[in-house]
Amino acid sequence: MNIHEYQAKALLRQYGAPVSDGRVVMRAEEAKTAAGEMDGPLWVVKAQIHAGGRGKGKFKEADAGEKGGVRLTKSVEEAAEEAKRMLGRTLVTHQTGPAGKQVNRIYIEDGSGIEREMYLALLVDRQTSRISFVCSTEGGMDIEEVAAHTPEKILSFSVDPATGYQSFHGRRVAFSLGLTGKQVKECVSLMGLLYKAFTEKDMEMLEINPLIVTDEGSLKVLDAKVGFDGNAVYRHADIAALRDETEEDPKELAASKYDLNYIALDGQIGCMVNGAGLAMATMDIIKLYGSEPANFLDVGGSATREKVTEAFKIITSDPNVKGILVNIFGGIMRCDIIAEGVVAAVKEVGLQVPLVVRLEGTNVEKGKEIINASGLNVIAADNLSDAAEKIVKAVKG
Ligand code: ADP
Ligand code: MG
Repeated sequence: MNIHEYQAKALLRQYGAPVSDGRVVMRAEEAKTAAGEMDGPLWVVKAQIHAGGRGKGKFKEADAGEKGGVRLTKSVEEAAEEAKRMLGRTLVTHQTGPAGKQVNRIYIEDGSGIEREMYLALLVDRQTSRISFVCSTEGGMDIEEVAAHTPEKILSFSVDPATGYQSFHGRRVAFSLGLTGKQVKECVSLMGLLYKAFTEKDMEMLEINPLIVTDEGSLKVLDAKVGFDGNAVYRHADIAALRDETEEDPKELAASKYDLNYIALDGQIGCMVNGAGLAMATMDIIKLYGSEPANFLDVGGSATREKVTEAFKIITSDPNVKGILVNIFGGIMRCDIIAEGVVAAVKEVGLQVPLVVRLEGTNVEKGKEIINASGLNVIAADNLSDAAEKIVKAVKG
């Protein structure tokens, strides 16, 4: 689960991180008052969307102006004007995809004098099963370029959970960032509180880009992007309250309401599978036969007919889906339940694309009977590779 920059900064402020003063604005009328509560002389007006690259982004609408989603302004009036221009408009960045994201919230922040911009991130490193620090002197809006062309400028190391964060970790970051004097001490304490926030709040990712040295020589968190482990959000009512459903994929949102493990992807073949392992294998084999999965979907072991119907509806609501592959190995989950769900869903929403069904396991004969008796135009398959081959062929024509 992701949150907005202004929410991430408020959270980090609670832990004692140096962040600027700022106000969030949801309606254009509020912008002037919000900006007026800060002294200036620089007001930074920042579009709040769950995507990075805002500074270099572009608005779809001409009346939003030529500038991107981060605008430096010199007066309260100008700040309010820019906030008004961005609200409700669609910002496209390299992270939003071509459709962009509608800007429904604006953060007006006290501007900082910047001496230099650095990069810092904490993340769960799946290779070491530890939390890793990643940092670079080359922070700012071109970090992707740095990673691609000069990866040696990025330092990364992990923290042993047995010792947890130690001040030498912070000094390692400080020296690699070329910090000196009191900045080293600031860095050691900042890294410590970030690590604390990360572990206490079950974060998955915490990216500060840029972390800056201000013109007064201190460290400051100028941008913050935080993602939480969705499976741990139930432990944190304060974090759950920060959820902005308008930022989420409506299909994933619907899936979470029905307790389906669904992740939207950009391929063409919708998959309905039981069991995460089988779902992964199904996605792999679709790729092997030359297409791409449109989603990951594990309906779980105890799916009801309603749940299966809902899952099918979610898959068909995706305009990218050009074919559907149902691949069920019935163990606890019974094939007849899946068959009933598929038939019910197709009757409700119709079937505009080819559908391949492969059933195996408990009650497989009953399941096949239900599908055959339904009169649906289903392509039957006997095993996993047969199923993948058939759906890819059907989609490619
Ligand atoms: P994004 O990463 O989405 O482009 P950032 O918050 O990193 O957005 O802002 C982009 C750039 O705008 C920063 O690298 C920094 O140069 C400048 N900037 C952002 N916030 C401020 C601020 N409060 N004061 C001064 N400059 C800022
Ligand atoms: Mg940034």
